[in-house]
Amino acid sequence: MRSLLQRLQWVRFRFANPLLTVLLAIGVFCYVTIGVQSQELAGLSISIPTPPARTELAQVEKRIQVIYSNTKRPFPKELERIYQKTQVFEKLSGLIDNKINLPRNVRVILKECGVTNAFYRPSQHSITICYDLTEYFIDLFKKNGKTDYKAGEMAMYATVFTFFHEVGHMLTSELDLPITGKEEDAADQFSTLLLSKSDVGERSALAAASWFNYATGPTTRAAFMDEHSLDQQRLYYIVCLLYGDEPKKYTTLVQGLGFPRNRLSKCVKEYDQKTKAWRKLLSPYAKKGSLI
Ligand SMILES: [Zn+2]
Repeated sequence: MRSLLQRLQWVRFRFANPLLTVLLAIGVFCYVTIGVQSQELAGLSISIPTPPARTELAQVEKRIQVIYSNTKRPFPKELERIYQKTQVFEKLSGLIDNKINLPRNVRVILKECGVTNAFYRPSQHSITICYDLTEYFIDLFKKNGKTDYKAGEMAMYATVFTFFHEVGHMLTSELDLPITGKEEDAADQFSTLLLSKSDVGERSALAAASWFNYATGPTTRAAFMDEHSLDQQRLYYIVCLLYGDEPKKYTTLVQGLGFPRNRLSKCVKEYDQKTKAWRKLLSPYAKKGSLI
């Protein structure tokens, strides 16, 4: 039997461990988002008129397979264990798989990469999410004054945003979608629209906005040439879309960030325009019985 002191130390240890809040965030995400969005894919409003019976769902062909690659260091090992136990990426992938007819199998690879990254490889039809990225998020949020508890939660949410950003690239490539403008902006847009219809989804988009805020470095010539928009532009674009969806809810945030009034009215129009655009692009690939 552990003494009370030992128990208190254990509790303190657990709450000082950002991985615990990663786990909590996954729990909240799975419970709220998956529950709410089983019929509706957030801002994209990919909805089915009536929920299919369990047996029908089981027959939905799964194109996205989640693969866990070898891990070496303790942190990725622990994260892998949490992901496997909660099946969070299987559930998030299922949101896409249940609605969209993908022409071929796609793998989601979770691995220790040795670098902070997440990427889609068209030639291999795979999305890779590095455990190192979540680790980087935890460090970044802690360095910027977040408690271990908060840093773990925000790191998981930012990882979910990144996952759907990569899904945006994957859909663009696998479905050969015509994208004008920068594909990186379109991927941020896809992720934000998809996440914008539930509170927990919005937390993911906001965690990504915080990431871009904290990661902003000196602006170099190379940064202007990059395929990504500048970190601060990505931050403001995410917030602009969230405001566009729910102006009242985000008024305080956009005022705090100093958005000009004339830009805000365009955010509302852009949210509708981009939702319509993605809906039109994805509609031909909707699974039978699904509305987009
Ligand atoms: Zn990208």
